[in-house]
Amino acid sequence: MLSKTIIFKIIAFSVIFVVIGFFVFFPTQLDKQTNLLHDSTLPVISEQARTLHAQLFIGDWHSDTLLWKRDLMDKHEYGHVDIPRLQQGNVALQMFTTVTKSPDGINYEANSSDANDNITKLALLNLWPIRTWNSLAERALFQASKALELADEFPQQVSLITSKSDLSQFILQREVNPQLLGMLLGTEGSHALDGDLSNIQRLFNSGFRMMSLQHFFDNKLGGSLHGESGEGLTEFGREALQKMQSLGIMLDVSHSSEQVVKDVLAISSQPLLVSHTGFYGHCPSPRNIPDELMQQIAAKGGLIAVGYWDGAVCEPNVNEIAKALKYGMELVGSEHIALGSDYDGAVSVPFDTSELIYLTQALLNLGLSDLQIKQVMGGNMLRYLQLHLPD
Ligand SMILES: [Zn+2]
Repeated sequence: MLSKTIIFKIIAFSVIFVVIGFFVFFPTQLDKQTNLLHDSTLPVISEQARTLHAQLFIGDWHSDTLLWKRDLMDKHEYGHVDIPRLQQGNVALQMFTTVTKSPDGINYEANSSDANDNITKLALLNLWPIRTWNSLAERALFQASKALELADEFPQQVSLITSKSDLSQFILQREVNPQLLGMLLGTEGSHALDGDLSNIQRLFNSGFRMMSLQHFFDNKLGGSLHGESGEGLTEFGREALQKMQSLGIMLDVSHSSEQVVKDVLAISSQPLLVSHTGFYGHCPSPRNIPDELMQQIAAKGGLIAVGYWDGAVCEPNVNEIAKALKYGMELVGSEHIALGSDYDGAVSVPFDTSELIYLTQALLNLGLSDLQIKQVMGGNMLRYLQLHLPD
């Protein structure tokens, strides 16, 4: 008969084994099940597309990759973005956005700000530092720290861009080292401020250069496009916006209510970004704001970045994504359109970042010129950053 001590040891080891398995296995499983790639028709790549794609300076305004437990220096078989895949796709600039609160039962119609928060569960499951459990600002800072560490450890592969001079230096470096990726940091919703304006400076000091005002629910700054109030910018929102612009933080109105977009357009001293979206006239989805507002954003020098998932483009295949880009170019001018994949943002997409050449091919197939393709694939993003990053 086994002694009590041995039985106790067997039970203790089993419990430890299960607990470790849970915290190692589950985060990867969740990542795999959330950030999907689906089969769809992909175009045959021509020699012309290969040559053009190799010449492109590619930039993407929106990826939530830092949310997940993934070693970004390794190439993965799941999810959408890591450094090797960005290099393979010839991507020069990637904006990494930090997600800090996401309501249970998330939808495009109406979410309550009091709903249970899924990022709290993710923080526990992924063993984020305790300070992130109760603070949305800490969640943003923690996700950013992953990017900062990469830039520190792998300067030949990753460079953090926070100013115009960083950007000029990066461009010079990339001419001799085409594998180098320029990273930028942004928030997904300014509830990440924890209701405290001083957190704008704190996030700025950690490298954040783009802030979106809302995400899926109304917050202290104003209404979300998928919230309950439909409200415009609040007084706190106005103060936050002024502070952001005084520091040189770019404003992203993806997910903002129509009234917030109108209010921001009326008072903003800088052109706006829509970092991941589609066009209502191309895809009448509740995720997309009306074309007329998009025209107003562009008329003030703004940049509109198109995503790759069904909520943005309705049919998430490469041809339809190219059509959404073309639709936008015809609506507001090709100098106002960019890429905003929403990679790793709990979406299913037809190609990951290593396969962006399919998009180049699809744009060629639609008859767009090399110049137009260069603009939307990254030229416009580069110009926008050259104009609007702080000195
Ligand atoms: Zn989003």
